[in-house]
Amino acid sequence: MDEKLESVFWNVQQRNHGETEFIQAVREVFSSMGPVLSKYPRFSEQKIIERICEPERQIIFRVPWQDDQGHVHINRGFRVQFNSALGPYKGGLRFHPSVNLSIIKFLGFEQIFKNALTGLPIGGGKGGSDFCPKGRSDAEVMRFCQSFMTELCRHVGEYTDVPAGDVGVGKREIGYLFGQYKRISNRYESGVLTGKGLRFGGALVRTEATGYGLGYFVQEMLGARSQSLDGKTCIVSGSGNVAIYAIEKVTQLGGRVVACSDSSGYIYDKAGIDLPTLKQVKEVERGRIRRYCEFREDARYHRDGNIWKTKCDVALPCATQNELTGKDAATLLENGCIAVAEGANMPTTPEAIELFIEAGIAYAPGKAANAGGVATSALEMQQNASRDTWSFEFTDRKLASIMKDIHDRCLATADEYGVPGNYARGANIAGFTSVAEAIESLGLI
Ligand code: GLU
Repeated sequence: MDEKLESVFWNVQQRNHGETEFIQAVREVFSSMGPVLSKYPRFSEQKIIERICEPERQIIFRVPWQDDQGHVHINRGFRVQFNSALGPYKGGLRFHPSVNLSIIKFLGFEQIFKNALTGLPIGGGKGGSDFCPKGRSDAEVMRFCQSFMTELCRHVGEYTDVPAGDVGVGKREIGYLFGQYKRISNRYESGVLTGKGLRFGGALVRTEATGYGLGYFVQEMLGARSQSLDGKTCIVSGSGNVAIYAIEKVTQLGGRVVACSDSSGYIYDKAGIDLPTLKQVKEVERGRIRRYCEFREDARYHRDGNIWKTKCDVALPCATQNELTGKDAATLLENGCIAVAEGANMPTTPEAIELFIEAGIAYAPGKAANAGGVATSALEMQQNASRDTWSFEFTDRKLASIMKDIHDRCLATADEYGVPGNYARGANIAGFTSVAEAIESLGLI
């Protein structure tokens, strides 16, 4: 970072004291900004980067709800409306006990660049709550969602802010949230949320989109190095929606995924993860990953084990932030890993990223590699706006082509800025310039 950027960064740190994840995400983007600001001094004069680091609006609210025993609970709700230069704020809601303002801000900040990379008209935002849905009944989750939306509804709308799912928020939660929005507003405004069920405005492929998009991105990345997924051994951390559909797509494209995980351990299945079993355990039973081994004799469960010790060609972190450390990166490299692409947001620590880039393997940041989810959300918004529904094949083709465009744009930008093959720099610079140009044209807002 040059001196000027250092001082901007220092200010960001002062203003957002103690928000470690947010500051980590900002530092990562700043590390790519030097050459862009030299090329476009007007971005510095206009203080574009300072403006991007300051959310347009941050909403924090109380969410009271009652459990099945009649006990009252209070959670905290968040919505950070980060940047709307390119379109209405767009980004998921995360329900997880770890959620705090720093986490929502890092996710919202990343979302600005990710959404810009899709080439679709969506700004960046993120929200959620420290509510833990694990072990809660459907009725409890419904009451929580209704209470959450009772406040959130004042701040969202199809032209204002369009939330979707993230960790802990899937179709069930989106259904309850949409129901409450509809009731309060007395408007059937499908475009206010994405990731909806198919019966009320949802889009085909949205469920699969983040994982499928990641698969398409990896295929492009390997293709750029005259390789392919065919016959490659892959590991995927996590076992939620992103992981499941990444496994499905990678398998369809010829890879063999041998391991996946949850917060208490990982499973290893040499023959390749059996998808119907995984879906039964995770989607139908909402159970823990170790249950997979009760169905598959040859699979092994490693309690508290580190999935990154598994030998592989391709590693796809699809669980959560900072799950892949410098030590894990060293192990992956020793074991011959040639590609890492992020299905989760910021799962790789800065030390680990540095090791991958130094080693010259293909490394793709989440804001590029997992953008298929939000891109397909934007396609859902398009369908809602035109009161249309598209076929699975048509939508999937669009998704594949969006992922190829993002891939190519990252590589072309990396080339242009003299860092060939560096997807992290390419993604940051390409995303930033789109947003910066829009902000500039809109005047001092
Ligand atoms: N939560 C997803 C993400 O991190 C999807 C957001 C959306 O579809 O709006 O990009």
